[in-house]
Amino acid sequence: MVTDLLEEAGEVASAVKGLEGFKPPEKTKTKEMLATELSDMLYIIFILAEHYSIELEEVFLQTVNDYILRFVT
Ligand SMILES: [Mg+2]
Repeated sequence: MVTDLLEEAGEVASAVKGLEGFKPPEKTKTKEMLATELSDMLYIIFILAEHYSIELEEVFLQTVNDYILRFVT
């Protein structure tokens, strides 16, 4: 699963590079393609969390709160 996650991260990077024009992609990248790749990553993250019985929503909300405290206030 971790290698799948890294593969999806590469696909996200490829989509962003294509959208930003850093590297001419083999085929045109779209926001919809980026959304799909991000969703693929998220799916694997949820599966990984479930495999290790991690309450991801609770941890994520704490992470968001930590970022807010660090950067917004
Ligand atoms: Mg993908």
